[in-house]
Amino acid sequence: MHLISTEPATGAMIWSGEPGDAAAEVVAARAAFPAWAALPVTVRAETLRRFANTVRARESEFAELIARETGKPLWEAKTEVAAVVGKVDISISAYMERTPQRKHEAAMGAKVAVRHKPHGVLAVLGPYNFPAHLPNGHIVPALLAGNAVVFKPSEKTPAVGAMLVELYREAGVPEGVVRLLIGGPDEGRALAGQPDIDGLLFTGSAGAGQALHRQFADMPHKILALELGGNNPLVVWEAKDMEAAAAIAVQSAYLSAGQRCTAARRLIVPEGAKGDALVDAITRLIDRLIIDHPLAEPQPFMGSVIDNAAADRLEAQFARLVDGGGKVIRPLLRWREDLPFLSAALIDVTEVQDRADEELFGPVLQVIRVADFDAAIAEANNTRFGLAASLVGGSPKLYDRFWAEVRAGVINWNKPTNGAPSSAPFGGVGLSGNHRPSAYYAADYCAYPVTSSEAEIARGSIDQGLRDPNTIEN
Ligand code: NAD
Repeated sequence: MHLISTEPATGAMIWSGEPGDAAAEVVAARAAFPAWAALPVTVRAETLRRFANTVRARESEFAELIARETGKPLWEAKTEVAAVVGKVDISISAYMERTPQRKHEAAMGAKVAVRHKPHGVLAVLGPYNFPAHLPNGHIVPALLAGNAVVFKPSEKTPAVGAMLVELYREAGVPEGVVRLLIGGPDEGRALAGQPDIDGLLFTGSAGAGQALHRQFADMPHKILALELGGNNPLVVWEAKDMEAAAAIAVQSAYLSAGQRCTAARRLIVPEGAKGDALVDAITRLIDRLIIDHPLAEPQPFMGSVIDNAAADRLEAQFARLVDGGGKVIRPLLRWREDLPFLSAALIDVTEVQDRADEELFGPVLQVIRVADFDAAIAEANNTRFGLAASLVGGSPKLYDRFWAEVRAGVINWNKPTNGAPSSAPFGGVGLSGNHRPSAYYAADYCAYPVTSSEAEIARGSIDQGLRDPNTIEN
């Protein structure tokens, strides 16, 4: 089936092409792998540093493409390109620190050495929300460790995926070493099922992650890294500066039109006047947010969501919350029925019974009012996911308690839930992943350790359990 990518903000076609053949891409990557793996790591690092320079040289073109194909504002697309560039040096440090060669002395002049080997051919499946930075966050460490990669970008962002691959090649990564597979979930499944891949590095939704985990059930020998979604809580408690708390809440919930895995979905506040004051401050900010075309001037705070199907789904999810008793504070408005521009919505769901624990992947923040901090922590943990959580306000003691009792892979204090640093590990617990954190710890899943006991001279003797040679009858 012919694949067409359209700009969400205008509906205009931006890219079209044919889906690829997973088996053929894996064959090409397999053939290129041994020579790439045999290069000294310094040569691979140099090639990737050249990639960073190549991206820098085409920064404006790349950022504009990301903005147009995702609908995110240009200023934000530029930060994504900066993250792509920054990934190279971070991955080199992480590789040296997480998977270094080590040797120590053992008995009789022997040595114990620990070295790492690449897995071989790794499949990478990317999401649409950070179509360059997130796949790049798997690909750069995988290439550095000596793997060959078959990358399938999201079917919603093939143009960015294709340009990313073009940039690796322009920098000198051999064609066979990084392969582009165009397509959607069918091609993703086909790639995951290729017998000749050694693993799969995935960033996307929990549903797709679970499907891949099932597909890998009888292949425990293959590496599977799953970076999935969240239903992230932001607790505002004993906040002194309501305006600052409101700004953090708005950033947490609505940056990237809420299409970040770390976006706050649930705002947990105290019952009564303090909660009211915060909600008022947030609504004042919501009413000032500019939502517009990604290249518009002045630049918007946020653009559209990815496509009409996503906007329809969010409208249906929001309507279900309203039907269930949610009190609308700011509605989810759609400017034009044929384009996926949504407003920033705020809804009080305290009274909604049986709220679904699902990720509303868009600009919707649900307010939940609770009586005390115990209830705030219980509500924060009232999810199968465990990606990001944040506390705004309180004392160091209160934060210590929050940190200790909340289950998540990213726990922040007086900071938004989103915008995690690449220089630290990144991943979640629960349905948010499978304990293979990415970012700084991506090095861990891109290579496996080999332990070797080594001696230059073979010395062999058996000291116990042998019969005296003189007693053996011939
Ligand atoms: P998605 O799961 O729909 O798609 C991700 C990729 O997987 C795409 O390339 C898609 O074609 C492919 N795919 C989908 N179903 C598949 C299947 N059954 N088998 C094989 N491949 C399949 O995700 P999306 O909508 O593109 O991205 C948004 C989701 O990603 C959100 O849930 C968000 O929270 C999550 N996300 C997680 C992180 C993280 O690091 N934890 C970061 C960004 C986004």
